[in-house]
Amino acid sequence: MSSIIQLLPDHVANQIAAGEVVQRPASVVKELMENAIDAGATDIKLICKDAGKTLIQVIDNGKGMSVTDARLCFERHATSKIRKAEDLFDLHTKGFRGEALASIAAIAHVELKTKQDQEELGTHIIIEGSKFTQQEPAVLPKGTSFAVKNLFFNIPARRNFLKSDTVELKHIIDEFQKVAMAHANIHFTLYHNGSELFNLPQSNLRQRIVNIFSGKTNEKLVPVKENTEIVTIDGFIGKPEFAKKNRGEQFFFVNDRFIKSGYLHHAILSAYEGLLKEGTQPSYFLYLNVPPHTIDINIHPTKTEIKFDDEQALYAILRSTVKHSLGQFNVAPVLDFDR
Ligand code: ADP
Ligand code: MG
Repeated sequence: MSSIIQLLPDHVANQIAAGEVVQRPASVVKELMENAIDAGATDIKLICKDAGKTLIQVIDNGKGMSVTDARLCFERHATSKIRKAEDLFDLHTKGFRGEALASIAAIAHVELKTKQDQEELGTHIIIEGSKFTQQEPAVLPKGTSFAVKNLFFNIPARRNFLKSDTVELKHIIDEFQKVAMAHANIHFTLYHNGSELFNLPQSNLRQRIVNIFSGKTNEKLVPVKENTEIVTIDGFIGKPEFAKKNRGEQFFFVNDRFIKSGYLHHAILSAYEGLLKEGTQPSYFLYLNVPPHTIDINIHPTKTEIKFDDEQALYAILRSTVKHSLGQFNVAPVLDFDR
């Protein structure tokens, strides 16, 4: 009998993986910005053209890469962030899958410029559809710039599937804001088609939120703080009178990573019980810090979901902390069936 199974060539495997990691320009924005943060950057610039369809560039002043690493970073499963399986349960970086750059390079034209502080010269690389077309030493500033051009150039179906520039830009801005909100101590700028949309100086959490969501946000914020063995909670909730009809500003960050959790969202809603007008939703900006070994982030390639060891305890702590903060600001629940 003849055998028919073959190992896929790397560039095909990369293209398949890319389908999971890169849904749209905003996915590239997220991956590049997270890499810049992991590289210790204090200044991160995002430059986009045509809602990222033509160009997505992230420039950072982080630690840069050696010549060897600059080439290796485009290999699949190539990462400086974990070394062994156990590291997956003690993560201190945004990245760890070593997949993003290999995926992006498989479906776009990528130009990398990178230099480490101690080196005289940096490295300039161009890779298109997983093929290196240029590599040379170059005079560069410290840090790294990734320019991703012509996303999905070799997957017309994906390219055609992209939404209008208005919609794709909205996704980019959402992603930019989430990353910026998780790192108030980093200076972020966003330019689109030559104009500056955001310029967020290094600041504290409250100031960062206000800079993103306008000055009027300031008076709406009630601070939240709690410190237990299971979790540290920091951040702000919106005063009930400012609740909105749509689900507007609702953000959970766990260990500086934006995550979605219907379960924890419910904990917040239940803390607001009796305080909100029918059909309105509260704003919240909540930062949870938990010991890395008590969570599993490796559930989905985009890492927006997390599995907690003790979700119920977290729910209870979050709910009572939010209730407490609401109470402190003289907005004690009118209808509190709990006691
Ligand atoms: P991961 O972030 O999961 O490790 P990536 O494919 O995103 O995988 O990146 C591969 C590697 O390239 C990273 O582990 C890191 O060592 C290096 N790298 C990527 N972006 C940067 C950057 N902006 N500055 C310095 N090194 C980087
Ligand atoms: Mg990464």
